[in-house]
Amino acid sequence: MFRVFRSWNPGALGSYDFSIHGHIYPAGKAGEGKAMKVLVTGGAGYIGSVTAELLLDAGHKVVVFDNLERGHPEAIDRRATFIKGDLRRQESIASAMAKVKPDAVMHFAAYALVPESMAHPEIYFRNNVAGGVNLSEAMLDAGVKRIVFSSTCATYGQPDQVPITEAMPQRPTNPYGESKLIFEKILRWYEDLGRMKPVFLRYFNACGATEKFGEDHDPETHIIPIVLQAAMGKRDKVSIYGDDYDTPDGTCLRDYIHIVDLAQAHILALTSEHTGPFNLGTGAGYSVKQVVETARKVTGRTIPAAVSPRRPGDPARLVAGADKAKKVLGWKPRFTDLESIVESAWRWHRSHPDGYRSGGAGPGRKSRTGAGKKGRR
Ligand code: UDP
Repeated sequence: MFRVFRSWNPGALGSYDFSIHGHIYPAGKAGEGKAMKVLVTGGAGYIGSVTAELLLDAGHKVVVFDNLERGHPEAIDRRATFIKGDLRRQESIASAMAKVKPDAVMHFAAYALVPESMAHPEIYFRNNVAGGVNLSEAMLDAGVKRIVFSSTCATYGQPDQVPITEAMPQRPTNPYGESKLIFEKILRWYEDLGRMKPVFLRYFNACGATEKFGEDHDPETHIIPIVLQAAMGKRDKVSIYGDDYDTPDGTCLRDYIHIVDLAQAHILALTSEHTGPFNLGTGAGYSVKQVVETARKVTGRTIPAAVSPRRPGDPARLVAGADKAKKVLGWKPRFTDLESIVESAWRWHRSHPDGYRSGGAGPGRKSRTGAGKKGRR
């Protein structure tokens, strides 16, 4: 049986032993010091929901701000307060910020699909940039300085070399990456002017699940859930987008990082004094073909796959140099091999064959709106 538990060291807020899929990991440091009240935008989404779960486990207070356009009510941790609101409406986030008066913001709410951003760049600039501007103004008005921002390796574009370090040039190859880079730059100005203390966490490919929360996008475009849907017979086959890249087997290399490791980095960043960028990845690059092979091994199922044309906007290799997060934040990713990551995702997909629509989706909130204004969408 898949289970996650934590045992507490009551002397230090956020220190815990962590077990997932039967493996017990040594006590980790989820951040020490006083409990904080954190406004989590996008807390009903994939990465936001898991981070909210770990924040609450570590003793922090969480207020989720989400418009539920792409997030799921069931993915909002029951222990969190929920405000339904939309970052694209200034008054929506301003009133929530004034009411909550958080110690810090974790900002996940965004569109995050490379192909969609190539087809509809305007919705990326509206949501990710204009929404970010509204959020930052609300923070300035309320005197909230600390923000942990969900940025992305897509801000680097096609790197000159891998692993990618934080000092390498940022030249996005798609509007999604550009929208995240623009908001990094806005926050950097606020930092230079002494108005904010931002951290940018540049994620590589987030995947895996906890017992409660996992990956459920509609439509799904990410490779691991797609491969697992094919394993469950919910898709005829997996399309491998291009096998003529300059990589060992011709398919793109990505750095797959477990969602729990990502979430823990957020908590470490939140409770540190550091600002600026941190890459979050394992440092290992796996090809699309390796992902399919690993999923065949983990699931024991036939997964038909066929090569199709390249997907516009895809860089060939994105692999993290994440030494800075390890050295500066004391971050230790615990899922360092693709097999255990795919195994974790597989367990969630099997227990939620139709995602959160499967019902009995765990202890998330069913559907409830909180004190804030309703979002437009
Ligand atoms: N990919 C693929 N087939 C799919 C979905 C994705 O070959 O059905 C490839 C995609 O081209 C990329 C890698 O898998 O090289 C990871 O894509 P994903 O969308 O999961 O994440 P991204 O790297 O775009 O954030």
